[in-house]
Amino acid sequence: MSATVRIQDVQVILTAPDGIRLVVVKVVTDQPGLYGLGCATFTQRPLAVAAAIQDYLRPFAIGRDVDRIEDFYQAAFVSSYWRSGPVLNNALSGLDQALWDIKGKRAGMPVYQLLGGKCREAVPVYTHAHGADEVELAEHTKALMEKGFRYIRVQMSVPGMTTYGSGGKATAQALDPAQTRTWEPTPYVRSVPKMLDYLRIHLGEDVELLHDVHERVPPIQGVWLAKAVEPYRLFYLEDLFAPEDISYFRMVRQQCATPIAMGELFVNQAEYVPLIREQLIDFIRVHISDIGGLSMARKLAAFGEFLGVRTAFHGPGDVSPVGHAANMHLDLAIPNFGIQELSLFPELTRAVFPGCPEVREGCLWANERPGLGIDIDEKLAAQFPFPEDSINGAWPEIRRLDGTVIKP
Ligand code: MG
Repeated sequence: MSATVRIQDVQVILTAPDGIRLVVVKVVTDQPGLYGLGCATFTQRPLAVAAAIQDYLRPFAIGRDVDRIEDFYQAAFVSSYWRSGPVLNNALSGLDQALWDIKGKRAGMPVYQLLGGKCREAVPVYTHAHGADEVELAEHTKALMEKGFRYIRVQMSVPGMTTYGSGGKATAQALDPAQTRTWEPTPYVRSVPKMLDYLRIHLGEDVELLHDVHERVPPIQGVWLAKAVEPYRLFYLEDLFAPEDISYFRMVRQQCATPIAMGELFVNQAEYVPLIREQLIDFIRVHISDIGGLSMARKLAAFGEFLGVRTAFHGPGDVSPVGHAANMHLDLAIPNFGIQELSLFPELTRAVFPGCPEVREGCLWANERPGLGIDIDEKLAAQFPFPEDSINGAWPEIRRLDGTVIKP
């Protein structure tokens, strides 16, 4: 048995190589050259996470045995007494993932081996297509299919509105003429079945299509939408309701067989356990760092396995490449993997994070390096400070025509 290796320091690295605020934690051990990396990215409140790590988790962690990941998780989780929430969970995730990275390096194995070994050769991913109208969207989707993607999220602008996922321009006349981001639910829900009808006619049946409602519509319109899109055989319909409205999933289940993905905003097991236990969703879509890290995510995956719920971990550009690597290692090792969201890593991001997972044939491929298999070039990362803007990275306000704020 080797001697105990202890945590010597915990450092927070803030970088934005692609303009997206990323938070990465580096856990340094007392063994020369041995460190681990973890993702703690909460891009709308990154400085709050950094403070939670520097002021609270760092002193809590220093001197502890790096091998006791679960014990560290449990102890750190309750050390704030009031627990959970995106700030504290992300802070904890940074250290948790870094400890898994260290354990892999100590074992000389990739993390997926520690989790039980590969269930698949590589991790199928979906990527994002968007368009101002059906024609543009179909063209973009086709271009991605030609690049080898078999799962594609499709989002289309509603004319005159700021529509999630499609970058449309808001020109609709709001009561307050100074309002720039305007959106209305009814034109949107009417447009989605028409969009899918067009795509199925022009793209055929082979491609798997996904769509994200992004919790924007009143719940009963969400129920209507789930029924209306059933004939188009979506791979899944995502975030149909806000976390506050999840009891509506019972109504959806009783009325249609549209596959349901939910949960990128979940932070607490009290939110996701009932939905899985009652088999009201088909895909659990949490953001791994927002639920506390890899230790929590592997338990959640195992729980879903028992109830026929597959995984679809959140994977946009505001998951750092370290977080994407953690997603990928878990995706490789679980039988109930569903799909992995992927935001293609831009060139600068790849340069800052050597060992970034490789994307080919519509899949993520792991390298065989011990641990998470990814590193950070700290000198290069320091060249990309957080961008300055008036709301410091917060989600911008979106309002209805009458001025009412809506959910993002
Ligand atoms: Mg989403």
